[in-house]
Amino acid sequence: MTIREHYDVIIVGAGPVGLFLGLRLMQLGVSFIILEKRAALHSHSRSIGIHPPSLELFDEIGLSEQFLNKGTCIRKGKAFRDASHCIGTLDFDLCPKPFTYVLTLPQYHTEQILQEALLEKAPDCIRRGLEITSFRQSEHQVEIKYLQGPKKYNLTSSYLIGCDGKNSIIRERSDIPFEGGKYPYRYAMGDFEDNTKFESNAVVYIGNSGLVESFPLSGNIRRWVAELPKDVHDCSLPQFCEIILRRTNFELNKSTVTMFSNFDGEHYLAGKFNLGRILLIGDSAHVVSPIGGQGMNLGWMGAWHLGEALQNTLKQKYSSGRFLSNWEKRHRKKATKAIKRAEFNMALGQKSKWPELRSYIVKYLLKFPLNNLIVRRFTMRGLN
Ligand SMILES: Cc1cc2nc3c(=O)[nH]c(=O)nc-3n(C[C@H](O)[C@H](O)[C@H](O)COP(=O)(O)OP(=O)(O)OC[C@H]3O[C@@H](n4cnc5c(N)ncnc54)[C@H](O)[C@@H]3O)c2cc1C
Repeated sequence: MTIREHYDVIIVGAGPVGLFLGLRLMQLGVSFIILEKRAALHSHSRSIGIHPPSLELFDEIGLSEQFLNKGTCIRKGKAFRDASHCIGTLDFDLCPKPFTYVLTLPQYHTEQILQEALLEKAPDCIRRGLEITSFRQSEHQVEIKYLQGPKKYNLTSSYLIGCDGKNSIIRERSDIPFEGGKYPYRYAMGDFEDNTKFESNAVVYIGNSGLVESFPLSGNIRRWVAELPKDVHDCSLPQFCEIILRRTNFELNKSTVTMFSNFDGEHYLAGKFNLGRILLIGDSAHVVSPIGGQGMNLGWMGAWHLGEALQNTLKQKYSSGRFLSNWEKRHRKKATKAIKRAEFNMALGQKSKWPELRSYIVKYLLKFPLNNLIVRRFTMRGLN
């Protein structure tokens, strides 16, 4: 037997962006369901950086306390030329109040907070462990079919939103191109017991031997990220520890590692975010290089405005085409800007013919009045 139901919106993907979009739609009184292929939340700490504009959005949906209770507030970022020379400090106190910091929280905690908030108010709004078999849009609705165990489901909705990540089947099966590629930079990262004295400060090393970044996490853990030498594709844990030691003088304790992985710097942008009744947001629409920690935050900002565009469209305040295409236009500009900002972050760590000049420039960027501009860029102002 096929089970049939109708919603205003079907969201495919219960990652950070799909869950957040669900909360936004709930706040706006738009009916929705989230369909997720994974049976349970995953346990990777991947995205950790949560910027002030996102904290402001969490505040609007009554969740900022939960995030602040679990996360770590970074109030300063220190830049080093090499292991022993600090070039300057960026002070996030310059951010507008009340969120004068960047929060770090492992992605599994973020997803857990978002999921619990959804399930508390709508216990049946997420379905997990399923396989989307087909979907198609017609003039008045979208139809989606999926399998959950032996049961077949056939849902309809006014809109279908692909929040299903970089390899989105919603985008791929809608023949929407995804343009971009990998940068010639590869990185590795790991979470280790914190044996530094940096406390809640972020630290970046921009010496000529390659970029290193380091961020505090709760529970006396520190995330380390290093650009890999050009001749290394996949670095092992011992190699990673050696790189960190060479560039920073810190000896990581291998036995305390809780997460370790290699990843590419890459960027992609979908040719369309809005194809009639099918829309894309989050990594299905745009992938921003992780250096700078913007991808998830950008997805939340886009989801926030998309929620409002959908609400207005469903109420027919505006012609549907116009409202959603305005959303796409604005969000595309922001995504393009975020990609460029991430490129700037990656370029900071590149080998320079004039390392002294680079240190000199960074030193001045971190001083008044340019520090205000740099804080805005690093905290994603102008993209919200
Ligand atoms: C190493 C690294 C570090 C990063 N650090 C940061 C950071 O600090 N800050 C930041 O803002 N960003 C960061 N990012 C980027 C961030 O991880 C992504 O932008 C973010 O996860 C995108 O969220 P999403 O919900 O769009 O997609 P995803 O997180 O990819 O979630 C997609 C969801 O859709 C589900 N799904 C996929 N296909 C289907 C299907 N066919 N049917 C049903 N469900 C499906 C998946 O199981 C998943 O749950 C980082 C990225 C990397 C690689």
